[in-house]
Amino acid sequence: MTIFTVGPVMMYPETLQIEGTQLPYFRTEEFGQLMKDIERDFLKSVHAPEGTFFIGLTSSGTGAMDAAVQNVLTPEDKVLVINGGTFGERFAKITRNHGIPTDTYDIPFLHAFSKDEFEKFSGKGYTALLVNACDTSTGQLFDLDYLADFCRRNDCLFIVDAVSAYLADPIDMARQEIDVLLTASQKALALSPGVALVALSEKARERCSGGSYYFDFNSYIENQKRGQPPFTSAVGTMLALHQRLESIMAKGITAENDLHRSRAEYFRNAVKDLPVEIPDIPLSNSVTPLIFPQKNASEVYRRLSGDYDLYLTPSGGDWKDVQLRVGHLGNLTTADYDNLLDKLRIILG
Ligand SMILES: *Cc1c(COP(=O)(O)O)cnc(C)c1O
Repeated sequence: MTIFTVGPVMMYPETLQIEGTQLPYFRTEEFGQLMKDIERDFLKSVHAPEGTFFIGLTSSGTGAMDAAVQNVLTPEDKVLVINGGTFGERFAKITRNHGIPTDTYDIPFLHAFSKDEFEKFSGKGYTALLVNACDTSTGQLFDLDYLADFCRRNDCLFIVDAVSAYLADPIDMARQEIDVLLTASQKALALSPGVALVALSEKARERCSGGSYYFDFNSYIENQKRGQPPFTSAVGTMLALHQRLESIMAKGITAENDLHRSRAEYFRNAVKDLPVEIPDIPLSNSVTPLIFPQKNASEVYRRLSGDYDLYLTPSGGDWKDVQLRVGHLGNLTTADYDNLLDKLRIILG
């Protein structure tokens, strides 16, 4: 089986080995040291400025989105969400669920973000902008440098869900003045699901009021001073995360971005002779959306999985027969893509 999905993804042998080993007890100095290493490497991997806080949660990525909203925002805020697909829609559902006045910039399927349209939201008194660096449902990558400038001009918080973009696309928390940056273990980190990582600016930390018991950032930050989580951590995933971050940081974050870029480019070039289309929108290195003009995406998905044990990421709702997504995260090689391309050629005749 090979999965080209966007979480979980193909895992590395080192991860499989660590995650298959007896867990240690975690209220120890050793585990505390390991969590401090993770803090250092994670913050470095996103170019966090000095003074940035680290929070390691036991939850999927959505848990971190919800936690960020609950900790940093209140119903006194007025927020703007970039709704470029399923994950943007999710952010807006979360903020509204917490009674926070929310407007959305809605981007129709297959349409690119437009700065001209977006500028209409400038000067409207927003206190925070929420965006998914890549909305994984379409693969669209948003221009964080431009959005950072928008936040600077509008003096609003910049909250970035980088769950799928982390490691695949360049992110610079310092330059982009990001206040909340979050990701999760089952994407490019290629670990089991269940750990979410958050980097919090000092400005965002000052706003944390502890709206939630389980997700109280202040409590995580206080406990992290000795490398301890307030509650039982996903210990095995943390051990594997430690190894992954060490190996990624040894090669450097630019090399990791390049790895994903070259995979995405390899696949996008090779797919040109197939009867599928790649949307003309800015794309993340994490995933390639394929549009099937003959509306046979579900059939292609069924044949790839049923006949060849290859899994692409299907789309939901209206796009079920129109779009499949090919992930570039995790332990995938060009041989895996060659195999996928061969089988796509057979199926699409
Ligand atoms: C995967 C993903 C999430 C998290 O989803 P979970 O299923 O809760 O882990 C959040 N945002 C984006 C952009 C994602 O790709």
